[in-house]
Amino acid sequence: FPPGKVPAIDWDPATTEAEQPRHPFAARAKDTVADTATPGVCGLQNLGNTCFMNAALQCLSHCGLLTAFFLSGNFVADINTKNPLGHNGELAKQYAKLLRKLWSGHYNALAPREFRIALATFCPLLQDMGQHDTQEFLMTLLDGLHEDLNLVQDKPYITEELESNGCADDVLASQAWRQYLLRNQSFIVDTFQGQLKSTIRCNRCDNVSVTFDPVTFFTLPAQTAMDLYVVIPVYFRSRDYDEPLIKFSCRILRTASLIDLQSCVAHQANIPRDCVAVRDIFQGRVFCAFDRDETVDVIRVNDEIFGYELMEAPPGPEPKDRPPASPPVDGEKVLVTFTQFNPEHQRILVPMIFVLDRHISTRQLYAFINAHLPSPLRCNVLPQAGQVTEESPGSTANSNVPLTEECTEELPGPEDYPFSIMLVNKESVPCDMTGRLSKQGTCLDDRQLSVHAWCRLSLRPGMHGIMLGIKWHTAPDDGAFLSLVDDESVAKNEQWIKQSSKNTQLTLKDCWDSFIEEEQLGENDMWYCNRCKEHRAAFKRLQVFRAPRILIIHLKRFQYTGSYRRKIESHVDYPLEGLDLAPYIAQSLPRGQQAIYDLFGITHHLGTSIEFGHYTATVKHANTDEWYHYDDSDATLCTEADVHPASSAYLLFYRLRD
Ligand SMILES: [Zn+2]
Repeated sequence: FPPGKVPAIDWDPATTEAEQPRHPFAARAKDTVADTATPGVCGLQNLGNTCFMNAALQCLSHCGLLTAFFLSGNFVADINTKNPLGHNGELAKQYAKLLRKLWSGHYNALAPREFRIALATFCPLLQDMGQHDTQEFLMTLLDGLHEDLNLVQDKPYITEELESNGCADDVLASQAWRQYLLRNQSFIVDTFQGQLKSTIRCNRCDNVSVTFDPVTFFTLPAQTAMDLYVVIPVYFRSRDYDEPLIKFSCRILRTASLIDLQSCVAHQANIPRDCVAVRDIFQGRVFCAFDRDETVDVIRVNDEIFGYELMEAPPGPEPKDRPPASPPVDGEKVLVTFTQFNPEHQRILVPMIFVLDRHISTRQLYAFINAHLPSPLRCNVLPQAGQVTEESPGSTANSNVPLTEECTEELPGPEDYPFSIMLVNKESVPCDMTGRLSKQGTCLDDRQLSVHAWCRLSLRPGMHGIMLGIKWHTAPDDGAFLSLVDDESVAKNEQWIKQSSKNTQLTLKDCWDSFIEEEQLGENDMWYCNRCKEHRAAFKRLQVFRAPRILIIHLKRFQYTGSYRRKIESHVDYPLEGLDLAPYIAQSLPRGQQAIYDLFGITHHLGTSIEFGHYTATVKHANTDEWYHYDDSDATLCTEADVHPASSAYLLFYRLRD
């Protein structure tokens, strides 16, 4: 028989009478016998959420190279019973048994129970009855078959790390491949595995590191620009409170973390990143501070995100437990959030956030807050003291409040200001030093309650979340409310959204182009540059180096952002014939050699989540070249015109043209 085609098999009907093992996997499902079935065209019954397995098996079954290898019995000679990573050859034998039934021409549909049980036995992750990712299943199956058929009897330990410095690509790639073959040689490696080149470039010194790794699944981004990026409006509060609030628009990767958003705000405001505090403000209160490692997906559409410019970087890392207030930390400096309120008026003043000296006196704090108010609110009739008077009026926002005791004496007392600073709970309701709600609230004074005392107080059990609030004695007039100015990024990103929402169709070429595109690693994914001797937000680029005989393309339809998995439903247009991989291969192909592929299988994912979706497959028959659609036990003939590129395509199986 010609290569790539599947040989006819001698079918022993006795096999059909073998007792089926008892198992919870669909105990009642039975094989459907039909003596006139086309070999290779056979449905697979759903044994309880097993469509993830059925769809991938149908595609793999029409990979003629592999199926012929199993049906001819050639695989038996390769079985490695000593490999601790294998399954004593049992998985390979079960797979061969399943293929024999599929290609016997004696069934319309099979209940692949024995195979399912073997899978559950050998692959603990696939033990349960739940839905699984078909790509993860296929990866597990191919890896299991590889280890069962691994020709290497004693795997040597490899400690040598290949260094890229100065080495030509092909030399290093061959070294890496030889090193891989020392531990891995099998029909699976020969058929399905290629080699990826990954280049990491330092963003500061251009130091480059190149590595070559084996690859079975080419995971291509399938996101449109709208899937890839999210636009987040951020209200920027300058440290000069006379400045209007500036609305920035940050376009950022959905997978980026809050620290990347912080960087984006800092970049737009042209200030150091550590001098920005990002907060979710809800009804005039800090709803939460963010964990810098969280992804920006935690931000919901209606959340109001504020970026505060701080006069200096806050002490220590930001808190991890998302408290509404920033708890005081040890050290001389503390980050303090002041909510502002007045029981009589409904209009909302934005909280203020400062890095303060822990030992600031109450009089100094009043003077400090007053100096940082917008000028219409600032109380100017008070006797100014110490350095406050020496500052020119325009720079009061930057003034240092005097800290020496004699200056404190000259400062006015709390009673001289139109506001009071007091303890409040996280709902901005005044409370006393035990956390009990109190109509008057406990105000800061020189003797009992200072910033330092509040820091210690809020560490007590049950007092976490006790904050400082600014209570206005009368409703502030209009001057207290900040004017809002749109940054130019707002219009720019509105335009971007308008453009991008039109482009919801992708071609496979687009996906390959973004696969090989250089991308900058995020702040949480830093690379250690051995020249700078520091972690850097380096640039990374992937390219194909060695193309496999069977190319499995995995369209990245599930986006993992934190705990949340998002399905990407972009429509990807892929060629049925003549996919040319050459533009994505990092080396020039030898003269006369091509990397042209033809499609023979597609697994589809239907539904919006991986847990509840359904998988089907469209597969080209290895011998007849007819297309069939497989939906569990159903197998239906279809035409090439029915093999529409669709938004459901998840895995694509291509065969290298001879
Ligand atoms: Zn470097």
